Amino acid sequence: MDSAEPVTEHVLELGRSSSQLEEAFTDSYILFNETTRKYMEAYRQLEEQFEYLNIKLEETNRELRKSLEEKDRVSNYLNNILESMSGGVLVVDLEGNITLFNQAAEGITGLPQQEVLGHPYAQVIGLDAGRELSVLHTLESYQSLTNREKNLQLDNGRTIPLGFSTALVRDAENNVLGAVEVFNDLTEVKRLEAQVQRMHTLAALGEMAATVAHEIRNPLGGIAGFATLLERDLAADDPRRRLARKITEGVARLNRIVSSLLSYTRPLTLNTRPVNMVEVVEEAAAFFEIDLERRPENIALQRDYPDLPVDCAIDPEQFQQVILNLLHNATHAMSPGGGTIAVGVASDRDNPAQIQLTIRDQGMGMSLEVQQKLFTPFFTTKEDGTGLGLVTSKKIIEAHGGLIQVESQPGQGTCFTISIPHNS
Ligand code: ADP
Ligand code: MG
Repeated sequence: MDSAEPVTEHVLELGRSSSQLEEAFTDSYILFNETTRKYMEAYRQLEEQFEYLNIKLEETNRELRKSLEEKDRVSNYLNNILESMSGGVLVVDLEGNITLFNQAAEGITGLPQQEVLGHPYAQVIGLDAGRELSVLHTLESYQSLTNREKNLQLDNGRTIPLGFSTALVRDAENNVLGAVEVFNDLTEVKRLEAQVQRMHTLAALGEMAATVAHEIRNPLGGIAGFATLLERDLAADDPRRRLARKITEGVARLNRIVSSLLSYTRPLTLNTRPVNMVEVVEEAAAFFEIDLERRPENIALQRDYPDLPVDCAIDPEQFQQVILNLLHNATHAMSPGGGTIAVGVASDRDNPAQIQLTIRDQGMGMSLEVQQKLFTPFFTTKEDGTGLGLVTSKKIIEAHGGLIQVESQPGQGTCFTISIPHNS
């Protein structure tokens, strides 16, 4: 404080004259005032600067907060998109550890996120399909894989067909951060592909069968005619009569097969009209009961019909054919012991727009293997079966926009359920 020194000097020089002293004091006072004013000014400037910096700081803070919020919003948005995607998405870091695994990925693989995140891809997802069909290949070779397919082997023994693509993940400076794999479950697609393939085969088979059946019908008629003539020409006690009868029986059976083959392969035309489903079912049931009287098994039909009519638009003749097919199968399944067949008509509880028809037997039931082949043409477990009853029934039901399903337990019995829309 240089300016303070002269003041002290002046005060110490008390030996001087009072005017001199007064002068010195005035000088000091002015100096003091001047200094104070300067300090005040400096202080005010500092205060202003401080204020300015404070405002600046607040502004920067506000911007920072905004940019963080924006970042949060974008990342939330991206996260939401990732989580709502139907495709599985997984990301690995440079070490091949999984850093992102969305909900669809969980759903497809059945692996929960917490068991996957942070773990090596090779360990959790596995490389059964080959390293070159994995995101690790992309990470190592910098080559993307586009629209490829592979099978994913799960721990529970299941195999899932996957469609997938991979790509590198880079930051804004083009540094590689990891790699991403996007995948879809192709199970349903594969199933449909197989179904289409099967239908093509069946269509070709059907065409051929129809031609063959036509060709067979005429000579068959001839054989039947000659066998009848032969039988008539033989004496009543001639043992060869039995042989001639066998020919007639064999021909009748062949004829049955040819007829069902033709009815299966023939294009279906529905003769739809409004009817009461209960009446249609009852007519078939009553007809079947007459047939039952001639059979050795002791079989009872139990009806479970609603009180009110069940209106629908169907082809009643074809529908009765389906019911008779199912009743015949049920009878056969309960042979020789017999039992009760329950026939039910109801409106679907879960879906009132549907009518449900059930035919439940107490027969031998079927294994899962049989259930899977049930609707395959020519599949039969019977010595004299055609294996065309259920496929033809299914074809008729589907032409009505309906569905036929089976529930069965070996040794417990079987229930066939037909669901069709009221207004089919
Ligand atoms: P088919 O009666 O000529 O054998 P279907 O198509 O009607 O041909 O039936 C196929 C097969 O499905 C039968 O051979 C039988 O094994 C099985 N099946 C059908 N209905 C029943 C049933 N109610 N109980 C047990 N098995 C059945
Ligand atoms: Mg049958």
